[in-house]
Amino acid sequence: MNRVYLLFGGNIGDVPVTFKKARELVEKKAGKICRVSPLYRTEPWGMESNNFFYNQAVGLDTDYSAETLLEKLQDIETHFGRKRVAGKMTSRTLDIDILFFNDEVIDTPRLQVPHPRMHSRRFTLLPLNDIAPGLKHPSKNKTVSQLLEECDDPLGVFPMNDDEQTES
Ligand code: ADP
Ligand code: MG
Repeated sequence: MNRVYLLFGGNIGDVPVTFKKARELVEKKAGKICRVSPLYRTEPWGMESNNFFYNQAVGLDTDYSAETLLEKLQDIETHFGRKRVAGKMTSRTLDIDILFFNDEVIDTPRLQVPHPRMHSRRFTLLPLNDIAPGLKHPSKNKTVSQLLEECDDPLGVFPMNDDEQTES
């Protein structure tokens, strides 16, 4: 069994509903979801789009290898209408990134884990800190809460109100 942490992101359509349906599909195709963070709204990051971004961190137990899990997550992105534009940060219905895979460090052309930019992004660290504050980054040797404390990302990340959250 592998303990994995994912980050959901999206800025097109009814994203909270997409996340809820995507979690159902993840459970059907990839493993057991054990933790779900609140939803956060984030200013658009490094993109031309004016749409706010939504993010949510998810803890998953899976028997699949990291490579196979990535394929399954990409199938789920495609199912929700994700279109890939090579080399571009574009608007998207659903993006699922693998943040951590156990305490493994993976560096292949297709997959880098821990996600190489997670420690510098408040929109990743805030939701992850809600579900796994004591988790240690295997190469930075710091916990998620320490990384969040040190993070100087200036972009605003706002927790959504309770009445805007979709129940998990
Ligand atoms: P981004 O998430 O950076 O906006 P994409 O979702 O389009 O970009 O992913 C681009 C590529 O990133 C994917 O085809 C995948 O092979 C690669 N990738 C590398 N590391 C990871 C990771 N940890 N999680 C998800 N995708 C990853
Ligand atoms: Mg991605």
